[in-house]
Amino acid sequence: MLSFWDICTIFKKNILSQTTLLQSPIEYLKGVGPLRADMLKKELNIYTFNDLLHHFPHRHIDKTQVTPIGQVTPQMDFVQVTGVLQGVTIIGEKRSKRIIAQIKDATGELELAWFQGIQWVQKNIVEGQNYLVFGRVSFFNGRAQIVHPEMEPFIATAIASKSLLEPVYPSTEKLKARGFNGKQLGKLTQALFQQISERDLPENLPTHLLDDRMGRWEAYRQIHFPQSTEKYQKALSRLVYEELFMAQVRLNLIKIDRHKNSKGHHFEKVGTYFNTFYNEHLPFQLTGAQKRVIKEIRQDTARGFQMNRLLQGDVGSGKTMIALLSMLIAADNGYQSCMMAPTEILAQQHFASLSELLKDMPLEVALLTGSTKTAARRSILKGLMENTIQFVVGTHAIIEEVVQFKNLGLAVIDEQHRFGVAQRAQLWKKSTIPPHVLVMTATPIPRTLAMTAFGDLDYSVMDELPPGRQPIKTVHRYETSRASVMDFVKAEITKGRQAYFVYPLIEESEKMSYEDLMQGYEQVKSYFPAPKYKISMVHGKQKNIEKETNMQRFITGDTQILVGTTVIEVGVNVPNASVMVIESAEKFGLSQLHQLRGRVGRGSEQSYCILLSSVKASREAKNRLKIMCETNDGFVIAEKDLSLRGPGDIDGTRQSGALNFKLANIINDRNTLEMAKNDAYALCEKDPTLCMPAHLPIRTFLAAQKAKIGWGKIA
Ligand code: ADP
Ligand code: MG
Repeated sequence: MLSFWDICTIFKKNILSQTTLLQSPIEYLKGVGPLRADMLKKELNIYTFNDLLHHFPHRHIDKTQVTPIGQVTPQMDFVQVTGVLQGVTIIGEKRSKRIIAQIKDATGELELAWFQGIQWVQKNIVEGQNYLVFGRVSFFNGRAQIVHPEMEPFIATAIASKSLLEPVYPSTEKLKARGFNGKQLGKLTQALFQQISERDLPENLPTHLLDDRMGRWEAYRQIHFPQSTEKYQKALSRLVYEELFMAQVRLNLIKIDRHKNSKGHHFEKVGTYFNTFYNEHLPFQLTGAQKRVIKEIRQDTARGFQMNRLLQGDVGSGKTMIALLSMLIAADNGYQSCMMAPTEILAQQHFASLSELLKDMPLEVALLTGSTKTAARRSILKGLMENTIQFVVGTHAIIEEVVQFKNLGLAVIDEQHRFGVAQRAQLWKKSTIPPHVLVMTATPIPRTLAMTAFGDLDYSVMDELPPGRQPIKTVHRYETSRASVMDFVKAEITKGRQAYFVYPLIEESEKMSYEDLMQGYEQVKSYFPAPKYKISMVHGKQKNIEKETNMQRFITGDTQILVGTTVIEVGVNVPNASVMVIESAEKFGLSQLHQLRGRVGRGSEQSYCILLSSVKASREAKNRLKIMCETNDGFVIAEKDLSLRGPGDIDGTRQSGALNFKLANIINDRNTLEMAKNDAYALCEKDPTLCMPAHLPIRTFLAAQKAKIGWGKIA
């Protein structure tokens, strides 16, 4: 059966040749010559009528509100007053020439001033007449003034009947300098609406979803030129829904397409490896969340389609065990597995823990990284080719061309949901049928974001920590109380615990951060003198071998203190470390602080995270630290982070294009998003190729969008 995308390709020519009025180049619009068109293209990316239509106003000015002049205060931004024009005077000569006038009502008077277009003003404004005056009010020597006001003769009856919510559009400084401010853009939109009609914006939602939503044409009109605030709200809510709904339909279709077209290895059974391990070697009871996720993976891999699953679990939730159990299922079905980590340290740790867990099992595990010696490498490559090695753990070295598997069935990718399409394709080349892919990440991806950005991946969450973990206690201290912080750390070390000191490393000023780190190291050393205390240090400038030796010394407990940059951020597991001091904590983002904090609290002891900051840290920074002290919940933190920074900044989603909504905001509109998701799912279940006549407009819409943006599959 043809998928939606196949149909798109077949009809592509058709769809594209149906040029509609909305696809007209912007220079065809009345009032836009080649020059202005150029500016619109360069500054606002407006190339066509359609682009202008989707350049939405960021606010409206309510012209129905008239303020008595006596009540105008400096707190007001734009005001509108009515009154009699008086005292028109020309002041100054030549370049400093200006016109001053007063507008007066029963409650007071307000000054108007013009510095430009003086001739025009002289000719057109009439002393003694009633005017409706609108503009940004400023206060000058305690007197209210409007510079370059908008004026129109005031006729009391006209005001009630006119649509008086006037749109103001986002503009740029360059455009403003050329006389294209937010209001003048409105004139273009007005001209646009004179040229287009309802035919150009046909309804695209099926009737059952339209419900009491505003119709499409009406919504576009009301969002630009609303007749009332209520109508504006209805228009906005309809268009937000449409935007989210279409995005969700698109993601659903991609997913359906993938399920249908991506043949995958068939893991028929759960066999001896899994069962023996589960019954005899599992060192703990699985948490409920772990059980649920392993069930999901089991189902995914048994259907004959390729699994593409994103597993999100907060730091310490036990993702490694999920990886191992999945690999055992692969082995039960005769397949090999690989597990890839972003750093050598992490790869080693995974290798060490897998080897330990599997020590009584007849399975071969290998470690393959950039620093694997030639002879060892050769024998590993041979083992993978001959299937004498079932599991290989490593870094990017695993996806190199030379690494060939006899029968790769599962690829686990740890701690990097950024692992791109290209890299995945690299993996797929390793067997004719692509391996199942499990991407694991501790970066808490808010639900709303996951639904949008990763909607085409299957998505599992582990929202439960293994039992017996004590919540980490987090406090914020100013650098001025460093001495007492050091005393506290000393007391913990005396109890046999270990501590981290983390320094920020900001890429742009790497040199400076490096100096900070060195200074910090000296400082820590002065509080914790040798030989009583042993300190290791890791940072990005060290050679791998040096970094690893230092790290290893801390892992084995040889050193009590680890001073480092964020290289210790990801995945490192030292349960005996119970304190983390984060220096200049104000320089870190929320998610990063949370990741760092996850390095402690991995054992049964009470753990602490101390956020040190300067007293001078900004209010937002202090707010971030406050959030950190209030919650340990990665999801709460991710949501807050998202609302503070906006989704564009979350790792790996920026390029996905899935978040470039014009109107919708995935935080504020999360209820609509949820609704859109459910509606889209139901619709695609019923009609996965969008062949039903009622769904034709959706198909046309998506196909046009696809042609325009060139949607790829999301990494
Ligand atoms: P992450 O999800 O951050 O990768 P890990 O897989 O490194 O977490 O697990 C963190 C620690 O919790 C490890 O020491 C692991 O052995 C332990 N662990 C995992 N699952 C459980 C469980 N169900 N019960 C107890 N401890 C567990
Ligand atoms: Mg991990």
